[in-house]
Amino acid sequence: MGAADMTYIDAHTHLDHCRADPAALVAAARAAGVETIIQSGTDAVSSHRAVELAERFPEVWATVGFHPHDAKELDPAGQAAIEALVAHPRVLAVGEVGLDYHYDHSPRARQREVFAWHVGLAARAGLPLVVHTREADDHTLDLLAERAAGLTVVLHCFSMPERLENVVARGYYLSFAGNVTFPKAAALQAAARAVPAERLLLETDAPYLTPMPHRGRPNTPALVAHTYAWVAGLRGVTVGALAAQVRENAVRAYSRLRLE
Ligand SMILES: [Zn+2]
Repeated sequence: MGAADMTYIDAHTHLDHCRADPAALVAAARAAGVETIIQSGTDAVSSHRAVELAERFPEVWATVGFHPHDAKELDPAGQAAIEALVAHPRVLAVGEVGLDYHYDHSPRARQREVFAWHVGLAARAGLPLVVHTREADDHTLDLLAERAAGLTVVLHCFSMPERLENVVARGYYLSFAGNVTFPKAAALQAAARAVPAERLLLETDAPYLTPMPHRGRPNTPALVAHTYAWVAGLRGVTVGALAAQVRENAVRAYSRLRLE
């Protein structure tokens, strides 16, 4: 595969959190070879928006759910909204959902209830789960062990390198964001080197976690190529081989994903 026909997937992004217009972001991404963008919802409004973007742009696919920051907002109307959206053919997964004990924007007990509800929804819908976890690794992994047996699980913005062996043994997918390129990210880089090829995904989480050498500026899906180049270097493979592998992994993880 030559550079000309190289295509990248940005496996997790937030176009609705970016300042630029989504059409401009998608066009810039396509110009940079990014032909697939998985747009993650974070509440009912954002999840509706994710589906609208997926309907509007052939590059964009959606995930729907309430982020742990927004867990306190999930009411019966929000549950009904998310339940209705999972049937949409361009919705790939329930997410991003999980636990965030760093910011504690929602009470922890409520975060766990809301996460558990989403795990149940993913099971009923037969969809994968896209998980956010920060400073809550034990509770996240325990809850998944108890309730997510048989589900495809993607750990987005993978951030627990000390649990690598456990999560690989469970068959989870590990999605690395731009912070894997940061100079002090030695443990994360070791994990990105060690993860089995068939479990690896790469993402921007734009507008956050901008990869080197653009760190300090807002992230965009077009910049995911820098993360591919970095991780390819870590793993000693060509960028083309890595891009093909991640594409294959995304298609395996997300049964509704159809690529050209
Ligand atoms: Zn995210």
